[in-house]
Amino acid sequence: MSMVAVGSIAFDSISTPAGRVENILGGSCTYFALAASFFTKVRVVAVVGEDFTLAHEKVFAQRGIDLRGVEHAQGKTFRWGGQYRDSLNEAKTDFTELNVFESFQPRIPREYADSEFLFLGNIHPALQASVRRELNGVRLTGGDTMNFWIQGTRQELLKTLKLVDVLLINDAETKMLADEHNLPRAAQKVLALGPQALVIKHGEYGATIFFREGAFGIGHHPFRAPALPIEEVRDPTGAGDSFAGGFMGYIASAGSLNREVLKRALFYGGVMGSFAVERFGTERLQSLTREEIEGRFQAFRELTHLE
Ligand code: AMP
Repeated sequence: MSMVAVGSIAFDSISTPAGRVENILGGSCTYFALAASFFTKVRVVAVVGEDFTLAHEKVFAQRGIDLRGVEHAQGKTFRWGGQYRDSLNEAKTDFTELNVFESFQPRIPREYADSEFLFLGNIHPALQASVRRELNGVRLTGGDTMNFWIQGTRQELLKTLKLVDVLLINDAETKMLADEHNLPRAAQKVLALGPQALVIKHGEYGATIFFREGAFGIGHHPFRAPALPIEEVRDPTGAGDSFAGGFMGYIASAGSLNREVLKRALFYGGVMGSFAVERFGTERLQSLTREEIEGRFQAFRELTHLE
C-alpha cells in the first residue's frame, strides 16, 4: 500500500514553556510523512527552497520516504513561527511566510499514479484540490486545514471538502468552519459539507470520530479515543499532523475500510501525536521504533479498558 502526502515542508521557529528553537525542520507534510512511514510507504508532494539541504533530505530518506514529488524552487522554504503560552493545546501564530509556496503548482510524478491513499495536509485548499483531482483513483482521501485557510480562503475550502473522505481538524477549527458553538451540532454541519467522516482532535484530551449516516458501515454513533496522559510535553507542534500520519498510515496498512479499522486508527493517531510532543520538532519521530509504538498502543487500550 502506498500513500501520497501533500502539505508544507517548513522551517519553524517555536517558543514553548520548555524552551525556544529557530528554523528547525517542520511543516504539515514532514510530521505526517514521518508518522505514517511506520505503517506504510509514503510519497511526498511539496516544495522547498534553496535553504533545504541534504541533511534535511536525510531525515525523510532514513524513513524510506519517497521525495520524487518534492520541487526544489528558487527562494526560501516556507517559514512559520508560533508560541504556546497559556495553553499547550493551541499555538499562537507569530508569522507565516509563504515564500516558495506563493507560486507552487503541485506536480505528481508518474510513479505516484498507482497510490491508493492520499492525505491533503494543511496548505492552500486550491492546491489540495488540484492534487486530489489528479489522483482520482485513490481509495480514501484524508484532509486537514486550519483557521488561516478557514477564514482566508473559505470558498476554495468548501470546494475541497467535497473531495475529502475523512477530515481531521481540532475543536476550534470545527466550530469555526461550521459557525456553531455546540460541538456535536458543528460536527453534523461539517459532515454536510462533504466528508464521510470527521475526526475532531481534542489536543491532550483525545479525539472523536463522527460518521455520516451509513458511511463505512451501519450506525451513526460517534466514537471517542482518549489521549495518554504524557508528563513530558516539550513542543506540541506537529501533534495534529503526526496524529493524522498514524491514523491514515494505520488505515493504509489495515487492508479493509470499515468503522472498526477507523476506530483503531484513532488510537494509532493518538499514539503518534503523543510521541511527537515529547521533543522539539521531529526529533522524537526520527528516533522512534515500531516496538515503542505497539507498547504505547497497549497502554492506550489499558487506559480505558473495563473488565
Ligand atoms: P500541527 O500539527 O497542527 O501542530 O501543525 C504544525 C505545522 O504546521 C508546523 O510545522 C508549521 O510549519 C505548519 N503550518 C503552520 N501554518 C501553516 C500554514 N498556513 N500552511 C501550511 N503549513 C502551516
